[in-house]
Amino acid sequence: MTLLQRLPTIRSKLGSVIVFAVGMTLLLVYLILGVGFEVFAIGDHWWELVLAGVLGAGIALVIARWVARGMTQPLRDMARAARRMETGDYSQRIETDSRDEVGKLADAFNRMSTELEGLELLRRELVANVSHELKTPISALRAHLENLLDGVEQPDPETLQIMLVQSERLGRLVDQLLDLSRLESGDVPLEREPVALAPLVSQVFSEIQVARPDPGITLEDDLPGDLPAVFADRERVHQVLFNLLDNAVRFTPLGGRVTVTASSHNGSVDVVVADTGPGIPAEHLPRVFERFYRVDESRSRDDGGTGIGLAIARSVVEAHGGRIWADSEPGRGSAFTFELPVASPTQELQRSGGPPATTETRRNG
Ligand code: ADP
Repeated sequence: MTLLQRLPTIRSKLGSVIVFAVGMTLLLVYLILGVGFEVFAIGDHWWELVLAGVLGAGIALVIARWVARGMTQPLRDMARAARRMETGDYSQRIETDSRDEVGKLADAFNRMSTELEGLELLRRELVANVSHELKTPISALRAHLENLLDGVEQPDPETLQIMLVQSERLGRLVDQLLDLSRLESGDVPLEREPVALAPLVSQVFSEIQVARPDPGITLEDDLPGDLPAVFADRERVHQVLFNLLDNAVRFTPLGGRVTVTASSHNGSVDVVVADTGPGIPAEHLPRVFERFYRVDESRSRDDGGTGIGLAIARSVVEAHGGRIWADSEPGRGSAFTFELPVASPTQELQRSGGPPATTETRRNG
């Protein structure tokens, strides 16, 4: 059986099965009937030939079925596994050492099951995380409403303000989740254009200062004057810068410093948002871009963090074909870097209007 599994194609297997079955048949007919091969030559023994033929065909059929069974076993296993998958059980794997088409199909089936099992795990994790995240502000709001109804709390501006903050957090969380899911499914097309980074950084600085007046932190930008524009969706780059700067300001203690620098090389621009905050321990660094991953759960929540800001930043940057990563020296600060493609001169010219059309006209003329 194992020898048969080593054959590389079903055709060669079937060929071997037939040769094997016919050989065995002739041998058995020869041995059992004792007529030997001379039966073909003797005229008055015609019934022995018929008997040998019928018996031979029967034996060949049984042997062929028995031998071929092993070839199709993985197919039967796959059908059974697929039925179990329909009920949500993705743990099924097909065991075969066959190297033919069926073996390759079984390998592909196993890879697909592993992938589906991983996706199912992610889906369950996501549902659990989202429910948990939504539950926190909803429970807080409910507790305040119950207290107000019972007369334990009064509807004074302070209580209403706390409730407003919770409902805003709920809204922000839902908005960000919807945005992330649209980004990941590629539903929102990028409206790419040449974008100058310096004015965008200044704009985000002003917005951060409005959102967190007097944070007691120095905000600095140091972008080279000749920094090329990037070819990107302006609103989305704004979102990445805002998320990174908002985190930097939130996590940096009073008296700290947040700086934005940039440099260009090999057709892309690297933007670095660095802070003098607590930093991120090395074991957490690769995971901070996962949704809902937080180094310090309670701290991020108390600050109004949703745990999705960096996941959105990564999706946006990757949708532009760029990369984003974090470096940190715990105790001394963190630096988040993202890379975006430089706008080509043609893209710049197309944005400003004239020349491409002029060139076209001249060529035609
Ligand atoms: P959050 O809403 O919790 O800030 P993010 O996705 O923006 O969610 O960030 C994920 C986690 O990464 C944060 O909870 C925090 O632990 C860590 N983090 C992000 N930025 C910084 C930073 N500048 N300094 C220290 N830790 C950070």
